[in-house]
Amino acid sequence: MSSMLTLALSKGRILEDTLPLLADAGIEPAEDLQKSRKLIFATNLPYVRLIVIRATDVPTYVQLGAADIGVAGKDVLLEHGGAGLYEPLDLQIATCKLMTAGIKGQTAPASRRRVATKFVNLAKSYYAQQGIQVDLIKLYGAMELAPLMGLADEIVDIVDTGNTLRANGLEPRELIADISTRLVVNQASMKIKHQLIHPLIERLQAGVAARTQAKSQ
Ligand code: AMP
Repeated sequence: MSSMLTLALSKGRILEDTLPLLADAGIEPAEDLQKSRKLIFATNLPYVRLIVIRATDVPTYVQLGAADIGVAGKDVLLEHGGAGLYEPLDLQIATCKLMTAGIKGQTAPASRRRVATKFVNLAKSYYAQQGIQVDLIKLYGAMELAPLMGLADEIVDIVDTGNTLRANGLEPRELIADISTRLVVNQASMKIKHQLIHPLIERLQAGVAARTQAKSQ
């Protein structure tokens, strides 16, 4: 349906920050997303619907055209690779850092390093760029535990305040990338539904700019 726009939103902490931005751009869900178990939501705009899915699935839905637009962290986009996606706008929410980390006071082994992460593609290209040989260990959560249990020498993970690392006797090592939440658009939708998508991007852009200005005052 080329007259309908489907927006894929990332569940969890990004969702809380995304909803006010959408509201500023004139899009309000018809019911409370946080309280419902539904996955598809109507909005106040008859041509816009929302789907709420795991952050890591957002690029896939948008790349394959099951959603026209997505909201996803740069970490997830880097891991996905970004094929088939335009990334027209940095929403500047859920900012954090993607870092390597290890046990406090320990240095990473110079030879082959065991690295635990959920971002295996991203970590693979990062260490290759650094010329460091690694054995990657894919984990799905609680990365901090891996060095403590001797499973890995180092982790690649998201760091915000650094509290989780500190609470587990770890410390950040190298910065891999500054992360924030991005708007992504399916490349075919951008062409076919340009008249719907372009004004939406502009309204979101204006909202982001207004927030940035308010913060700097
Ligand atoms: P912190 O203790 O504040 O450094 O937060 C680190 C933990 O929160 C990590 O385990 C991350 O998985 C999660 N986290 C923090 N910020 C984000 C974000 N913007 N996006 C996704 N996960 C985050």
